[in-house]
Amino acid sequence: MTEMGIRIKVVRSKRRSLSLQVKPQGVILHAPQQASDDEIRAFVHEHRKWLITHASRVARARAEALEAGKLSPEEVADLKEEGKKVFRERIAHYEPMLGVRCRRVTVRAQKTKWGSCSAAGNLNFNCLLLLAPPEVLDSVVVHELCHLKEMNHSAAFYRHVRSVFPEYDRWNHWLKEHGPGLLQRLPESG
Ligand SMILES: [Zn+2]
Repeated sequence: MTEMGIRIKVVRSKRRSLSLQVKPQGVILHAPQQASDDEIRAFVHEHRKWLITHASRVARARAEALEAGKLSPEEVADLKEEGKKVFRERIAHYEPMLGVRCRRVTVRAQKTKWGSCSAAGNLNFNCLLLLAPPEVLDSVVVHELCHLKEMNHSAAFYRHVRSVFPEYDRWNHWLKEHGPGLLQRLPESG
């Protein structure tokens, strides 16, 4: 779920109360197994101020990660693994908005590409997007999903993109500016 553009991952477990936690990869909401979606939404809404304060911490942690040099092969493997879940979740979020359905999703560590869409409707994403702000990851997800409607970069294509992601240009610009630095973080062996 998202609140004020901050992505929140809900993790249910055997516990009795709700709590929020900031991790470098984002905000985690711990919830009891039986908590209803309404309860969770109300809790997040009540903690909006907390989220605003701590969102800057998430952003800082991400910025530090960007400057942190080469990733180890283990870290890349973790990003791919985590990426499968994150990309699936974001795709499921945007598919109904665009009225499309992708077929297969793959997540790889790639030195040049952020995402691609095959003629068969399979999508592929770069796991390094997990180290970028969540809006950047979303902008790439929306871009590739829109290729299921238009296999080109026509005005119609960008109309679809902006219809579900109005801030596309801003975050695409972020990727152009910071993307090369992110790609540098892959280990030499790939
Ligand atoms: Zn494209």
